[in-house]
Amino acid sequence: MQLVEFFINFFENFFDPKKRIFVGYLLAALVVAFLWLVFSKKLSLWQSIRKLFDKKVFLSKSSKADFLVFFINRIFTLFISPLLLTQLVVATFIFNLLLLVDWPDWSFGFMLSKPAIVATFTCTIFMLDDFTKYIVHRWMHKWPALWALHKVHHSAEHLTPITIYRTHPLEGIVFSLRSAVSQGVAISIFFYFFGNSVDLLTVIGVNILVFSFNVAGSNLRHSHIGIQYWGWLEYVLISPAQHQLHHSIAKEHYDKNFGATLALWDWLFGSLHHSIDTDGLVLGIKDKDVSDRQSLYGLYIVPLIQFCSVIVKMSKGVKDIMLKAVKYTGNWRKFPLNKQNT
Ligand SMILES: [Zn+2]
Ligand SMILES: [Zn+2]
Repeated sequence: MQLVEFFINFFENFFDPKKRIFVGYLLAALVVAFLWLVFSKKLSLWQSIRKLFDKKVFLSKSSKADFLVFFINRIFTLFISPLLLTQLVVATFIFNLLLLVDWPDWSFGFMLSKPAIVATFTCTIFMLDDFTKYIVHRWMHKWPALWALHKVHHSAEHLTPITIYRTHPLEGIVFSLRSAVSQGVAISIFFYFFGNSVDLLTVIGVNILVFSFNVAGSNLRHSHIGIQYWGWLEYVLISPAQHQLHHSIAKEHYDKNFGATLALWDWLFGSLHHSIDTDGLVLGIKDKDVSDRQSLYGLYIVPLIQFCSVIVKMSKGVKDIMLKAVKYTGNWRKFPLNKQNT
């Protein structure tokens, strides 16, 4: 029974429009990439097809590791997801907290028309979700413990749409909590202020903004097709080439383009890098301690060991600080201040 449930869960990823690798989005990405190769790169039809299905990319050791991680992580998801915090729990908790407080009359529902409330809610939930993705992704690079986990994603040497699922399960838990909290906050506040007028503008059950971005080829960010947008547009939306640059091992590309959908956050917080021609980009990580980042050991166990060793070092540091503080407090009692006062 568990096995059947697992396979249903596994194949659902390709037929659920809420998932990034929904076949519809993959086909849309294929069309966008094909048009770009023919009209912008001026390749012939045959050259474009060969480029799209480049064997060197899809049959590489790195891409095979992507598929393996994707498959294994579905098993983790099956067991872990029932234990994780959901947006419904967060939303209910915050909503009940808001009800406890004796606010002045905050019911704004009468001030906005239903379409205006739906449009505001749809935009807010999209923006908040994207902004928190940006923040957490930045932390993943900044904090050594989180970087130990995020390296799994960056150890990909070739990008395919499946690479988005190349993450350590612990990183998956962090991002799932982020999603529950950010969406729960938006839902509870909107329901508190606007009541039953709150609704999401959707296409086949997906936020219309997310759907539009996915149809426009969001899967190409993890691909070998380096589509570049116009300069002005790359201040607003992350182009495939901009995310590919985020995976580059060149020093000048470190800590650039953390954005998931919007480049706006990178622009505002100084981490934006415009796209370049990605043909010469080398992707991956410069890690001297692990020679093989494509094995199960390198993908699951090494990050866990590195994560734990950083946590242990940090806790030792905290312990040292506390011991120093205790020692200092002890010495402070011996200061001659009391004598002067007497
Ligand atoms: Zn990253
Ligand atoms: Zn990536």
